[in-house]
Amino acid sequence: VSNLGDDDVAIALDAVQGSAGIGRVVETGARAVGLADKRVLVGPIDPCGECEVCRRGGAAVCPSARRRTAWPARVTAAARWAIVLGDGLDANAPEGAAIAGDVAIAYTLYARTGAAPREPVVVVGATPVTRFLVEILAAKGLTFAVHVDAAPNAWTAWLATKGAVAAPGAAELEAHFAGMGLARRPWRVIATSADSVPVAAGLAGPRATLTVLAPIASLPGELATREVTVITVAGAHPDLVVEAAAMCVKGEIDLANGTAREASADHRAIVELR
Ligand SMILES: [Zn+2]
Repeated sequence: VSNLGDDDVAIALDAVQGSAGIGRVVETGARAVGLADKRVLVGPIDPCGECEVCRRGGAAVCPSARRRTAWPARVTAAARWAIVLGDGLDANAPEGAAIAGDVAIAYTLYARTGAAPREPVVVVGATPVTRFLVEILAAKGLTFAVHVDAAPNAWTAWLATKGAVAAPGAAELEAHFAGMGLARRPWRVIATSADSVPVAAGLAGPRATLTVLAPIASLPGELATREVTVITVAGAHPDLVVEAAAMCVKGEIDLANGTAREASADHRAIVELR
């Protein structure tokens, strides 16, 4: 006997990555029969889509959202938030599992930061999300640099292949942007992990914006003395998954290499196979 809601689907997962998965619809509620047997992407939450928080673009923090914290082989999801694959928007398992996960988180960091062309963007961090964010910023034609530890390594080599400028400190970043005619323009600093927040906060100068990804421990109070605007991101916004998927289809995001299991460097997303 099924306990699916009328608007729900049951998905047999092929793979999961972090808080997202890819799989096939194996059972549908009465109003979701159109999704029967479809391959879908599924993210961590089903927002209500109708409350005042959702209406203001806050679906990721909807107080009425259903949240999936465990990832058994079969999950229940709201049909309206399952991203149907096929018809030009396709993805393979296992790497497709990352689309509604780390790729969508990276896309949300980009979208929430809202940088305009020729606004200096500084990325701090070296995680799977960082990697996808770099590819998104490059594809969007934004002016950005990545803060890195001084020693060249596999990560800085990869950044170079993406045309991303890697700089070890504030002085180098300032020189880079000044060389582009962007001296003194307030930066948009994005911290992609909790442990990158202290460095990112230090780089956020007067009137900068600082985008941080939950969870973080704290923010320095001295940000207020520079009138830094803090933008917080709780997780992937469900309504941005389609755009993230489209970038993967176009090859703007290298999903296969970004999720490669054999690559053990910590900036690669690892997908669990079912
Ligand atoms: Zn809501």
